[in-house]
Order: sequence, then structure tokens, then C-alpha cells
Amino acid sequence: MKRIVILTTGGTIAMSKSDAAGGAVPALTGTDFVDALPRDLAEIRTEPFSNLPSAQFTLDHIWNLSRRVAALVTDNAVDGIIVPHGTDTLEESAYLCDITIDSRKPIVFTGAMRTASEIGYDGFANLAAAVRVAASNDARGIGTVVVFNDEIHAARDVTKTHTTALDTFQSPEFGALGRVDYDGVVIARQPARREFISATRLESNVHLLKLVVGMSDGLLVYLAETVGARGIVLETLGGGRVPPAWLPTIERAIKNGCAVVVTSRVGAGRTTDRYGYTGAHRDLARIGCWFAGGLNGQKARIKLMAALGAGSGAEVWNA
Ligand code: ASP
Repeated sequence: MKRIVILTTGGTIAMSKSDAAGGAVPALTGTDFVDALPRDLAEIRTEPFSNLPSAQFTLDHIWNLSRRVAALVTDNAVDGIIVPHGTDTLEESAYLCDITIDSRKPIVFTGAMRTASEIGYDGFANLAAAVRVAASNDARGIGTVVVFNDEIHAARDVTKTHTTALDTFQSPEFGALGRVDYDGVVIARQPARREFISATRLESNVHLLKLVVGMSDGLLVYLAETVGARGIVLETLGGGRVPPAWLPTIERAIKNGCAVVVTSRVGAGRTTDRYGYTGAHRDLARIGCWFAGGLNGQKARIKLMAALGAGSGAEVWNA
């Protein structure tokens, strides 16, 4: 049998209702998870990392989590890792593992949308599916994945799309990699491109701004000139457009050593060079912006923190 480690971090998957707190709080431990899983899936051991809602995770926390996963995959007595995680920031931790861990062993993130006190708690079903993926030879070499609602998603592609739905995790542009069904794990496609950034830390002074119509560049000025940001991700309009008044501010930020990464606020698709008007993609390229290639804003920020943490210039970003 495959030897799987469940590295528990908290999240709704580990929560039940507390009358004292007046709502759900972390309660379940690794032992509760193992007790609920069928015995014949794998040889499972659990390791506690934290028991927190993911909105309380800090950058240090997710970096240390990724380093613990990185250490576990080098252990010859471990065939795969599962990380149950709060869904609010799950995609960021999963993507961080994906780009900073170079291993063929399955790394599987999962969670739950309903607490263990609610009818239809999805935690154990998601966990059982995650174990089956982590124990599958077909899941080797496909990078970090998110297994949720019986679907297998690439960490790079997946995002939380709904505040309450059980099928909240979707890969809007290219869809799931595969599915867990009654008697097997079906990997239907493999990610064509894997990124690896040899980061030794995360640069924390990296920020995300979403653009809306008629927005002034005041927040950008503040981040670049008062906060002294090392990196800023812009969720730009459509396929990579900004109001013309933003261009000189972006250019000044870049000249002062702040990396500016362009992605789209739309939620799927790359930014592309198409238009000749002021503020369009080619202006952003001309003044030295980097492009996120279809990553959403929160994942582009993780990648930028890792790239700057690797001591990067553009060559690490574009590798
Ligand atoms: N409160 C949760 C969290 O820790 C939400 C969840 O896990 O679904 O992110």
C-alpha cells in the first residue's frame, strides 16, 4: 500500500459548531480524519501543522507549510502528501507548493465547504478522494493538485468560484485534469507546462490592485512611493488595459525598482497585445511590465513573491 501523509492545517474541513463561539471553529484533528477513512485506501499517517481558518494564515505560515511539504516529499517512506486546508486561501498555498517544489510525488490539497456539524459535510468525501489521488501512480508528475467534489484540478488553473457551493473549485479556462469516480482515478489530461522557482523566501512587500472604471492611480502611488512596494500585481481591465493616466505612475514605479505584473480582472484568459490606443497592452510592455500569462491576481502575487524571493529579474519571472 502507498504511504500517505495528511498534513493538517485547519479550515472548514476541520471545523464544527461551538455553542460557546456561536459558530463553527476548528475542532477535528488528524485522528478524526484517519478514523473516518476506509482502511484499504493507503497506509496513512497524520501530522499536525496548524488548526486555523485560512484567513488567519500569514505569509510566514504558508511559506513554512510549503517547506514542510517540500521536506516530506524527499522522505523515502512517503509516497504522497495531502494538505487539508481552508478553502479561502487554498489556491494560494497550493500554487506556492506547485511552483517551489520539484517532485513527481503527488501533492494534493483538499478541504470542505460544510462543517462537520452540517448535513452533507463534504470533508470526509473530499479527503477520501484526495487519498485515492495521492495513492495513484497516474497522479505522479502532474504537479500540485486540488481534489474537491471528486474533481482533480491543477493548482495553477484552479480558483474558488463560489462562496458556498460544493463545486466551488473550478479551472475556468481549461477545466479539470480528471475525476475520482467509483472505482478509480481518471487523469484525462496532464499540465503541458510546469514552472519551478528556486525561492529561498517570499518577498512580502508585494501587493495586488484591481482596476475599476474611472479609478485614480492614488493607491498605486501610495504603494509605490509611500509603502515602497517591491512588487505590484495589477488586475487590469479586459485583456490588459489601464486608464492612460496610470502609465506614467507605473513607469515611475518600475524605474524605481518595483516589479509590476499585469494580469486581468476578468478571471480567465491571457492578456494580449491587440490594440493601438493609449493604455493598452503594448504600452504596458513598452514601459517594462511583466505579464502573468493567464494566472489570476492572487496567484500572480504568489509567483511574484517567490520570484523576487529567488532574487529575480525578469528571467526568473519568465522561466
Ligand atoms: N473558513 C474557511 C477557511 O478556513 C473556509 C473553508 O475552509 O471553506 O478558509
